Amino acid sequence: MQKKKTEKTICSYCGVGCGILVDVDSKGTISVVGDPDHPVNKGMLCSKGRNLNYVAQDTSDRILHPEMRWSRNHRLQKVTWDTAFERAAAVFKSIIAKHGSDSVGFYVSGQCLTEEYYLANKITKGFIGTNNIDTNSRLCMSSAVVGYKKTVGEDSVPISYEDIELADTFLISGANPAWCHPILYRRLENRKAGNPEVKVIVVDPRKTQTAAAADLHLQILPGTDVVLFNAIARWLIEKRNIDKTFISKRTVNFEAVKKMAFSLTIRKAAEKCGISASEIRKAAQYIGQASKFLSMWTMGLNQSVIGVSKNVSLLNISLLTGQIGKPGCGPFSLTGQPNAMGGREVGGMANLLAAHKDLDNPVHRKEVSDFWGGKEINAKPGYTATEMFDALENGKLKAIWIICTNPAVSMPNVHKVERALKNAAFVVVQDISHNSETTKFADLLLPAAGWLEKEGTMTNSERRISYLPKVIDPPAEALPDVEILWRFGQAMGFKGFDYNNASEVYDEHCLLTKGTNIDISGLSYERLKNEGSFQWPVPHATHPGTPRLFTDFEFHTNDKKAHFNAPQSLYNSSEQTNAEFPLILNTGRVRDQWHTRTKTGKVKRLLTHIPQPYLEMNKVDAYLRKLKEGDIAIINSLRGEVQVKVVINSDIREGVVFLPMHWGKVLNNDFGRANNITNDLVDPVSKEPDFKYCAVQVEKF
Ligand code: SF4
Repeated sequence: MQKKKTEKTICSYCGVGCGILVDVDSKGTISVVGDPDHPVNKGMLCSKGRNLNYVAQDTSDRILHPEMRWSRNHRLQKVTWDTAFERAAAVFKSIIAKHGSDSVGFYVSGQCLTEEYYLANKITKGFIGTNNIDTNSRLCMSSAVVGYKKTVGEDSVPISYEDIELADTFLISGANPAWCHPILYRRLENRKAGNPEVKVIVVDPRKTQTAAAADLHLQILPGTDVVLFNAIARWLIEKRNIDKTFISKRTVNFEAVKKMAFSLTIRKAAEKCGISASEIRKAAQYIGQASKFLSMWTMGLNQSVIGVSKNVSLLNISLLTGQIGKPGCGPFSLTGQPNAMGGREVGGMANLLAAHKDLDNPVHRKEVSDFWGGKEINAKPGYTATEMFDALENGKLKAIWIICTNPAVSMPNVHKVERALKNAAFVVVQDISHNSETTKFADLLLPAAGWLEKEGTMTNSERRISYLPKVIDPPAEALPDVEILWRFGQAMGFKGFDYNNASEVYDEHCLLTKGTNIDISGLSYERLKNEGSFQWPVPHATHPGTPRLFTDFEFHTNDKKAHFNAPQSLYNSSEQTNAEFPLILNTGRVRDQWHTRTKTGKVKRLLTHIPQPYLEMNKVDAYLRKLKEGDIAIINSLRGEVQVKVVINSDIREGVVFLPMHWGKVLNNDFGRANNITNDLVDPVSKEPDFKYCAVQVEKF
């Protein structure tokens, strides 16, 4: 009888990165529990993580063989891997020969393992010769990336999760960690329970579970975060609750931020934010009097046309108070996806280079192209996520290779994405599940191995790199994504793609980081397997990892100082409401679903929490429209419409409605697909879409 085996791995959902123990018994039945020895979760798992065994066990929806069609009039047919690679390489070569390197692109995912991300980036930038590789992380963290670069000189989250157990004031903005980062929130709850003097401030237009438990909930009007953060900055400066020594010795540009902060009185700012001046003063007082202040934020700040301004104005508060580089304090962006940070480390975005090197730096471009031995790296940034689908629609981009993501549900203004995919000359979809709505657009469908079926690494929100082992075999002909990519590289005739395993890809990535601020040349698979996870940098083979960055108060900027940044504008430039579309639509997650539900939608237990899409609206807005709880409503915007049941309460501000982002076409009529109506406006610098703000009307069906 086959022996039962237990392996340590990492949860495949959110950026918290919880450790999991996986058991596979002699009959192949999988069970999971939280890893009690893992420093992130210490044995805890949230509902999604606890039910991962069902996802791994259920192969009913899996893509089992490569499938291909010769034209859009034909159905997909099973083919061999050799035929699939031959066709992919032949079509890519012919499109590149006819239309140039910039006519093809890759759209990947923050759920890809680092090795997969690395190879997709190497193929695109190093050998095809285009920077047209972007990722669904663009929809998630790109505003935070720009915020960090502008402030500390690099995309570097300075904190460690253990700072949650040390902080005495938390400012949580545009985030609902109680639902979306549950294990971190448990740690925060424990901190508060043991230390009632700890203050938690939540900034959110909705009274979420996180907001309901806060000491202070600032229920601001959507899009007014910059005004709020500037008002807090003003109060801190006025009351001299700032760290003057830190500001004068370790920062630049304070005066510009001070000038902007003083451009509005606190009373005027409160009016603009739709809250009281006393609430702003109270928040500022909590922050100013904190000995250890930690800010946390996620999509409410990032997914905005002014996402970068929101980020820098929040980061300014950490600099004003000197609350960075020390235990228990700092800015902490909560990552949405499990490996969004790993993807950025290998440069897996249209404007990034591997190992945190800069695409606009000719020395860096040469270093990377020399290392890879391929083409000279193009200086021009590639298409970002929304630009990529625009380019497919207008014909500039001919072929797209989509890996581990479902843009036919997740992208804003999704009807445009459908038109773009229909218009593409060639669409490759590499995924695990037929449940992904994007698979129906594929000319070539490639079966990928899923969680537990392949090995590799991921980096969580605190820069912690963990190893995920292969525990079970993938079904039928599914292959690890990393192998699909290196075999495509070989089929294209590229040199340097003769890998034998993921470990070789990882070693190459580590070598490229040597001497950089994210140096992990001292972190091998062996160390990860034997010693557990590490926070980067890990620059030599006995280095213990780096819990906190900037402990010497030297930053990654050229002058080694942290930079205050005056936000470009105090005011929101989102689509404006009007008489026809008077309500502001906000979108987001629910507790027990993940992204477009290709995995969580299969788990019955997870459907007991919220089984269907819904529209949350204030009771006054509902009354004005004669809507009752449970009625079906039609929500319209300039882009289209969506139908859902209505949930009515007083937890959401009047004038604001909320739709979860997870559901696709659950019925024939796009029931619940939020992105039918969202717009594709983006932040001009981060190019992150404005998912949290578009003008809609709601009517009874
Ligand atoms: Fe997985 Fe995130 Fe839940 Fe942890 S908190 S178990 S990483 S979904």
